[in-house]
Amino acid sequence: MTASDVPIELVESRSPQHPLDVVASVPAADAAAVQRALETARAAQREWAAATPLERAAALSGAAGAVEAAAAELVALGVREVGKPVGEMAGEVARGVAILRYYAGGCLDPDGETLPAAGGVLLLARRRPHGVAGCITPWNFPVAIPLWKLAPALAYGNAVLLKPAPAATATAMRLGELVGAHLPAGLLAVLPGGAATGQAVLGAVDALSFTGSAAVGAALAIDAVRRGIPVQAEMGGQNPSVVLEDADHETAASIIAGAAMGYAGQKCTATSRVVVTGDAAGFVDALVAAVERLPVGDPGAAATVVGPVITETARRAVVAGADAVTAAGGRVLTGGRSLARDGFFVAPTVVGGIDPSHRVAQEEIFGPIVAVLPARDLEEAIAFANGVRYGLAAALFTRDLDRALGVLPRLEAGLVRVNAPTSGVDLYAPFGGVKDSSIGPREQGKAAREFFTWTQTATIAPAGGS
Ligand code: NAD
Repeated sequence: MTASDVPIELVESRSPQHPLDVVASVPAADAAAVQRALETARAAQREWAAATPLERAAALSGAAGAVEAAAAELVALGVREVGKPVGEMAGEVARGVAILRYYAGGCLDPDGETLPAAGGVLLLARRRPHGVAGCITPWNFPVAIPLWKLAPALAYGNAVLLKPAPAATATAMRLGELVGAHLPAGLLAVLPGGAATGQAVLGAVDALSFTGSAAVGAALAIDAVRRGIPVQAEMGGQNPSVVLEDADHETAASIIAGAAMGYAGQKCTATSRVVVTGDAAGFVDALVAAVERLPVGDPGAAATVVGPVITETARRAVVAGADAVTAAGGRVLTGGRSLARDGFFVAPTVVGGIDPSHRVAQEEIFGPIVAVLPARDLEEAIAFANGVRYGLAAALFTRDLDRALGVLPRLEAGLVRVNAPTSGVDLYAPFGGVKDSSIGPREQGKAAREFFTWTQTATIAPAGGS
């Protein structure tokens, strides 16, 4: 067999709304392509490191302008490729522009600190780039997640090899063109492909930032540690919203319905359990009504909140979850079935009457399904909220500030929010979880510098001795 006989592996994405619509079909980057991208990136990184901070800031500002100018195109592509409702997709692209601008400013931030020293000695702790950073990303935020990794990686002096999820290939490649046009050639490479391409990236880079499922993240983190490279992994969640008896049911139900079902529940920070103290039956009525009010349908329509899920497998997982609840003696309070229309639509689903140990209340299903768990009192509510392997986001609904202040530190979650949805991220605040949700330093904001740099401590003494 000659090299030209080797079959080229294609990576493909399809519209979850119109599954016959092939959005991307491109050759996957194989190990040789990853190696070539690595070598080019290494050379470009040296050029980038030699550029002035103002030049780097200007490049990232230029990239922000390019993404902003192409916003309508990127929004349409994201709606088509991953089925995100257009309103959310527009918000995501706007966030992407803001992320690029934020890290353009970050190029001018202090790159270390001085420490006290005696005798005219200068003691410095300086931040140095790793070299080439690998970013492996999921499909559900096809613009924001690649950008919230690559923008700080670049701002702090690295080159980037980005390996997007197959289901978001076209959006990532267009994003790479827009951003890459403002950077030295090869400083940013987008390498389409699946697990094999991801493995090649992991084997090549000087640091790895991953976002995706817990199983893949944990396995990649072990391999990265074996290779001796820094690793950061942001993974799944099974996020609780705790509704205390003094909360306003209507308001809480409406916020939680959006947090659980927005983008068909396909967010790592989506609410998937609601723990209720007090009148649980009254709250369930309010929640079911709020969920049933949500517009389900064409992600391209401005009013839509719940579009399709990403694949037929994802749709089946939601229906199977509802069936497992019924099999365990619980109840499907609304939804629990596929919707008969083109595309992977499934009805927003609320379940109840299950033990907190039920798999629907333990595992991340990553679809529009939420379980209601009544709790006897505050202590039991906190135990239920914390009783999962994940610890990404948690929300608390109460009008009692003292109780909120007491409960927040006891919630095992990286992001805690009072009277606000579990989903929702401020791009300038540290983002990440605890337990099986996260490995390594936080992403976003100034916290991102921790991962994308290493610290070199320098002592500079006067030449004449001190
Ligand atoms: P996934 O784990 O299947 O894939 C994530 C990425 O890893 C993709 O690019 C994929 O191609 C790659 N990959 C898969 N197997 C690999 C392997 N063996 N070696 C190298 N690379 C490999 O996740 P997904 O389905 O794309 O995304 C959904 C998951 O992402 C959910 O669990 C969700 O909670 C999580 N997520 C987490 C966050 C967060 O910030 N915590 C944000 C968004 C999504």
